[in-house]
Amino acid sequence: MSENLIRIKDLRVSYKTDFETVRAVNGISFDLNKGEVIGLVGETGAGKTTTALSIMRLLPFRTGRIDSGSIEFKGIDMLKVPDSEMRKSYRGEKIGMIFQDPMTALNPVIPVGDQIAEAITHHNKEKLNKAQVESRVEAMLELVGIPAFRKADYPHQFSGGMKQRVVIAIALACEPDLLIADEPTTALDVTIQAQVLAMITELRKKLGMSMILITHDLGIVAQVCDKVAVMYAGELVEQGTLEDIFTGDKHHPYTIGLFGSIPKLNEETDRLETIDGMMPDPTCLPEGCKFSPRCKHCMEICKQSPPVEFIDGKHRIACHLYAAHESN
Ligand code: SF4
Repeated sequence: MSENLIRIKDLRVSYKTDFETVRAVNGISFDLNKGEVIGLVGETGAGKTTTALSIMRLLPFRTGRIDSGSIEFKGIDMLKVPDSEMRKSYRGEKIGMIFQDPMTALNPVIPVGDQIAEAITHHNKEKLNKAQVESRVEAMLELVGIPAFRKADYPHQFSGGMKQRVVIAIALACEPDLLIADEPTTALDVTIQAQVLAMITELRKKLGMSMILITHDLGIVAQVCDKVAVMYAGELVEQGTLEDIFTGDKHHPYTIGLFGSIPKLNEETDRLETIDGMMPDPTCLPEGCKFSPRCKHCMEICKQSPPVEFIDGKHRIACHLYAAHESN
């Protein structure tokens, strides 16, 4: 039986200011086994990054709050782990994160080698001497395709793709069990995107890590993931295996909309389909189904009550359409 690595149950996260409450994540549940990759897909503002920051316990100190739910990592309740323990044993050691923008993820006034070394020494204080840390830094740079002699260079001396490789080296420096990659290729051009993605996949397999890949690109999901979870307005509207999402015959209207907006190589199209409307304001979410203002199939019940989940094996769709269909 596969070993469970992380289990998230009914997670609710909000950002509170003096004036309003942003409901960023609204009751999501998913789990991931050892060695698996799950793709968290959705538009900007769907709550993907907030989910990642909640796992890392890196929500903004003054405003971000986990309201309810649980995050279990290797059977440990992550919400009860003290901050000092999170810093010492989890963040960067058992769970690594590749942040979205390599330009801002690196410190501009510290050589990249020292930034990789910081991650290594922080988690291996007693075990490695200076020479061992140096050789590990060099090995990490080589691993991500950067010559070791460039360890003394500063971030501004690297291209965007190379900066992202350094960020990946930092995230992998302690060989974490779980890698969270938050849109790791968004800031890169298409050719470099493909290289970085291939490198992450190869390293992940080599080191036997699980991964949560956050992206809005279904093409990337198809290449890399075993499971997919589609997020909308802080909720998981559909989740399943890669086959369920890419070849199954039932889909949430939002997932259908996402697929409709991808160009198809074997079809001539004048205009790509779009999903009408905008993501709802997270300070004032609609009653019932959050997608109802944009949904072509919206029924009266959709505006009144949250959708009942349709479940078929591992495939889950939160939509009244299928609940209604199943009960007929
Ligand atoms: Fe559309 Fe209703 Fe399904 Fe929501 S529950 S996606 S509004 S059909």
